[in-house]
Amino acid sequence: MNRDIFVVVEHLDRATADVSFEMLGRARELAKATDGQVVAVAVGNDLRGVAAELGAADTVMLCQHPSLAHYTPEAHQRALAAILRARAPRVTLVANTAMGMDLAAGLSGGLGWPLVAYCRHARIEDDRIQATSQIYGGKILVEAQVEAPSALLSILAGSFPADAGRAAGSPVIEEVPPPPAGPARVRFKRLIRPEGGDVDITRAAVLVSVGRGIQSKDNIPLVEELAEALGGALASSRPIVDQGWLPKTRQVGKSGMTVKPKLYVAVGISGAPEHVEGMRGAELIVAVNTDRNAPIFNVAHYGVVSDLFDVLPLLTEKLKAAK
Ligand SMILES: Cc1cc2nc3c(=O)[nH]c(=O)nc-3n(C[C@H](O)[C@H](O)[C@H](O)COP(=O)(O)OP(=O)(O)OC[C@H]3O[C@@H](n4cnc5c(N)ncnc54)[C@H](O)[C@@H]3O)c2cc1C
Repeated sequence: MNRDIFVVVEHLDRATADVSFEMLGRARELAKATDGQVVAVAVGNDLRGVAAELGAADTVMLCQHPSLAHYTPEAHQRALAAILRARAPRVTLVANTAMGMDLAAGLSGGLGWPLVAYCRHARIEDDRIQATSQIYGGKILVEAQVEAPSALLSILAGSFPADAGRAAGSPVIEEVPPPPAGPARVRFKRLIRPEGGDVDITRAAVLVSVGRGIQSKDNIPLVEELAEALGGALASSRPIVDQGWLPKTRQVGKSGMTVKPKLYVAVGISGAPEHVEGMRGAELIVAVNTDRNAPIFNVAHYGVVSDLFDVLPLLTEKLKAAK
């Protein structure tokens, strides 16, 4: 049985996605348990920049071709399936992102290997692959045990620290020729970028997030002022975006962004599973809510049971005075 742990590297526009580093860090732990190697596999074109960032791997396999420059499920699945079939690693980690969900399911079907999706945790105990999956938007956690010699696990972003996968190193670089072209029912037409000019909340160290408790668009500056006083950015729950009070780029949660700031202040947010899914990875969570039974307090490290219209002006004033 092959003992290696493979990581399918997700990248876009020559930038490696954070979840790839998270998976590399986790792969190092899994490889300790199997006594195998960590192999990062990247499919695309002109991957020099991406390869240079994968120092945490023992080997980097690159499958490069102009026809693979943009993600299309069939071409990328074909390239990856050829590599994985030939090597049959013990575990292959794929990101549970829009691209990764598509890839992992196709690879599982094509290779006949089991796939455990929506993984929050992955480990190997007594030579068995074990994974914890999060389903129903985080309402239920499922423990899966895989008996097969090779398995695919798709990993939710924010499940592991990315720093562990950013190590500097000199992995062996292996170039893999692309497989012959096949059917291409899905074609790449163009990349639609998010609205420009807005803050990237996934990179902010401090986020103050506003929910429906704010009652009206006119009250949002109250939360914005707190964000400024903390040197952070403004984020929100989905209803705020649905009402058109803030742009979609600020939405945290299942259908928005996954964020991992050092500090996340949830203001007037109930803590629905779809919201919590996007922010539970924050290092420190502070919640302000009038309802002491609001589910947000189940994930918050500090809770303020109070009216946000009383608390926020006081907090902002004190922070400004302390500067
Ligand atoms: C498929 C799907 C995807 C979804 N994706 C997302 C997503 O990505 N992100 C997301 O956020 N939601 C998402 N949702 C919606 C989610 O289920 C919730 O409806 C939403 O998160 C609730 O937003 P909220 O907490 O702002 O509002 P509410 O649930 O209405 O909560 C408002 C909170 O404010 C408190 N409050 C009221 N007045 C005050 C006051 N004066 N001071 C302090 N507190 C006060 C209340 O006690 C309450 O807890 C999704 C839903 C579905 C079905």
